Amino acid sequence: MLRIEGLSVTFGGLHALCEVDIIVAAGEFVAIIGPNGAGKTTLFRAISGTVPPAAGHIAFAGQDITTLPPAARPHLGIAHVPEGRKVFGAMTVLENLEMGATTRAGQVVWKVNLARIFDTFPRLAERRGQLAGTLSGGEQQMLAIGRGLASAPRLLMLDEPSMGLSPGMADTIFDCIRDLHSDRALTVLLVEQRAAETIELCDRGYVLETGRIVLQGAAAELAANDRIRKAYLGT
Ligand code: ATP
Repeated sequence: MLRIEGLSVTFGGLHALCEVDIIVAAGEFVAIIGPNGAGKTTLFRAISGTVPPAAGHIAFAGQDITTLPPAARPHLGIAHVPEGRKVFGAMTVLENLEMGATTRAGQVVWKVNLARIFDTFPRLAERRGQLAGTLSGGEQQMLAIGRGLASAPRLLMLDEPSMGLSPGMADTIFDCIRDLHSDRALTVLLVEQRAAETIELCDRGYVLETGRIVLQGAAAELAANDRIRKAYLGT
C-alpha cells in the first residue's frame, strides 16, 4: 500500500532523513521506533506532503505521490494523526470530527462512520458538544484519532499517540489502536518512543536513528534483538 524508496529530507543542508526505505502492505500494522530527533515526525510529514523530499520516492496504492500536493493526499486515503494531537480547541468534539470528514470517502460514509467512532471512543460520544480545548489529554488523543478515522482512511498514521499521557491512559489508547487494526482491518503506521508496547502491538517494525533505518524485522525478531533489548527495552 505504501512504498518509500531512498527518501532523504534535509533542513539547512543537514539530513533529517537519509535514504529511507519502508514498505507497508495493505492490512499491516507497522511501527517506527526511534529516539528523540531520529526523524520520525519528518518521515510522517514527508508522507503527508508537508515537507519536500530532497531525494527518493513515495508511492501510495500504486500511485507516485512524491510531489502530490498535501491537500490531495487525504482523498487517497492517507490520514495523519499528528504529534501533540492538534485538535481545534475552540471547536466542539463533533465539529472537530466533521473537519476530518471533508474527504470524499469521509462524506459518503459520514453517519455510519461517526457511529463507529463513537462506538470506539464512548467518551467522545458523551462529550460531543464539549469544546475540544477543555478535554483531558487522553480525550484529546481520542479525538485526534477519531478525526483521522472520520476521513475514512485506508492508512492511519499515528505520531506518538502516547505522548504526555499517564501509563494507564496510554494503555487505553494502545488498546483502541489494536482494536482498530484487528476489527476494521485498518492499515496502521505508528511512530512511538514506547518501544515495548509498540513491539507488542505491531506486525513489523523499523528502527530509525539519526535519520537512517538501522534495523527492521517482524515484531518477534525485534523483541529478541539484543541491541533493541538494551537500547529500547531496558532488558
Ligand atoms: P521526537 O521524537 O523528539 O519528536 P523525531 O524523531 O520526530 O523526534 P524529527 O522531529 O523528525 O524527529 O526531527 C528530526 C531532525 O530534523 C531533528 O534534528 C530536528 O531538529 C530536525 N528538524 C525537523 N524539522 C525541522 C525544521 N522544520 N527545520 C529544521 N530542522 C528540522
